[in-house]
Amino acid sequence: MSQRFYSTRSPDQFVDVKEAVLRSLPADNGLYMPESIEPLSADFWDNWRSLSLPEIGFEVAKGIFGDSVPAEQLEKIVHESANFPAPLVTVREREHVLELFHGPTLAFKDFGARFMARLMGWLTREDEGLLTVLVATSGDTGGAVASAFHHVPGTRVVILYPQGKVSGLQEKQLTTLGGNITALEIDGTFDDCQRLVKSAFLQREMAETLNLTSANSINISRLVPQSFYYFEAAKNLPEGVKPTFVIPSGNFGNLTAGLLAEKLGLEVERFVAATNRNDVVPEYLREGEYRPRPSVATISNAMDVGAPSNFARMESIFGHEWESMKERVAGFAYDDQMTRDTIRRIREETGYTLEPHGAVGWLAAEAWRKSNPEAHTVVLETAHPAKFLDVMEEELGEGSVEIPERLGCLAHLEKVAYSMGPDEEGFAEWLRSLDE
Ligand SMILES: *Cc1c(COP(=O)(O)O)cnc(C)c1O
Repeated sequence: MSQRFYSTRSPDQFVDVKEAVLRSLPADNGLYMPESIEPLSADFWDNWRSLSLPEIGFEVAKGIFGDSVPAEQLEKIVHESANFPAPLVTVREREHVLELFHGPTLAFKDFGARFMARLMGWLTREDEGLLTVLVATSGDTGGAVASAFHHVPGTRVVILYPQGKVSGLQEKQLTTLGGNITALEIDGTFDDCQRLVKSAFLQREMAETLNLTSANSINISRLVPQSFYYFEAAKNLPEGVKPTFVIPSGNFGNLTAGLLAEKLGLEVERFVAATNRNDVVPEYLREGEYRPRPSVATISNAMDVGAPSNFARMESIFGHEWESMKERVAGFAYDDQMTRDTIRRIREETGYTLEPHGAVGWLAAEAWRKSNPEAHTVVLETAHPAKFLDVMEEELGEGSVEIPERLGCLAHLEKVAYSMGPDEEGFAEWLRSLDE
C-alpha cells in the first residue's frame, strides 16, 4: 500500500508523501492526514512486547507510510532518529511517568524533529540545490530542529528567534552548532518571527528557488514518531493492563500521535488532555463549544497556545463529533500556583522531580484516578527539569536539579547569530543572499 495524504479541509483531494512532508501545510490551510490507517498485523501483536523502541517504531512508521517510503530506508531513518530511550518510571503503584526527555535537546520534540530531518533528507536526495528549512521558535522547537538537521546532507536550517525572549541555555542550543544551522536573532516577538517565516513562503519565486520548507509541528512527519512511545509505554505495563495516557498539551500534536497509535490497534483505556490556563480544549470537551483565543503566559510556557493547531486533526479523527471525542478524551486545566504546589508536593512525597509541564499532567492524572481508582495512569513527561531551572529552584531550592552534561557544557560555547529587524523586506533580502 502506498499511503496518500488528504487535507483536513479537502478530504477528497490527495497528495503523495513527498508533497505532504515538504509542503507541510496544504494551500487551503488545513492539515495533512494519512488517507487510511489500519491496525497493525497479527504478526506484530504476537511479539510486540519483546521488540525494542526502534523496532516498534519501524512497524508503526510502515503502518502509516506504507511503501511510499521503501522499508529499508524507513528502517534506517527510524533507527537513527529514535536512538535514545523512553523509560517508563513507576512513581507509585499505578502512577507512571513516561520520560520523553532523554534525547539530545532534552525535550520530546527530539523524536519528531530527528525523524523529520532524516525523512526530508531522503525525500530530497535527488533534488538539485539545498533544501532550506525555516523555523520560528519561542524556545524548545528551534533547539530540537537545529540538533536534528545538523550535518544532514542537502539541508540547511534558518532559525528565527525573538531577541531576549528565550532562556540563556535555549539560545545556546540554537546558536552554537554552526555548519548548516544559522540563527537569526529578531528584534521583535515570537509572532514577528512567525510572520517573517510566512512572508517568505508567500514570495513564490524565492520560495521555489531556495527550496523552502517549514519544520513546525503541523508537519505530519513530526507526529508519526511520537506514536512510537505510546506502544513503548504500554509494552512495559503488566500484561492485560490498558494504559490511561495523560498528555500535557499545547498544540495537541502529542495527543494526536496517541490517537494515531490507537488507530494502529494499541489498546488504550482513555486519553486525558492536561493544559494550563490555556484551556480551549478542556472547555470544548466540557461544553461542546470550541472558542480559540489569544494565549496567556504561564510557567509551563510550551503549552501557552490559544488556538491549538492539531485540533483540526482531532476533529477529523472523530468525524467532527463532539460526543465521540468526549468518549475517548477527557480534559483538565490547572493554574500556575497548583503547578508549583505539585512540583513541591510530589518531590516531598515521592522524591520524583516533575517539571512544570509534567506537573500539570500529574494533576490531571490525580483528578482522573479520583473517579477511576483502578486506572494505570501514564503521564508523559515532556521535558527535562533542568530546562526550567528558574521555576524549579524557586520551588525546590538552589542546586536541587541536576543539570545534564549536554545542557551544562553549552554555557561555555560562543553564541553566533545574525541580528535583524522584524521587517519582511530585510529578511527576504538576507534569504536571497544565501545562494550568492
Ligand atoms: C511542545 C511541548 C509541549 C506541548 O506539546 P503539543 O504536542 O504541542 O501539545 C508540552 N511540553 C513541552 C515541554 C513541550 O516542549
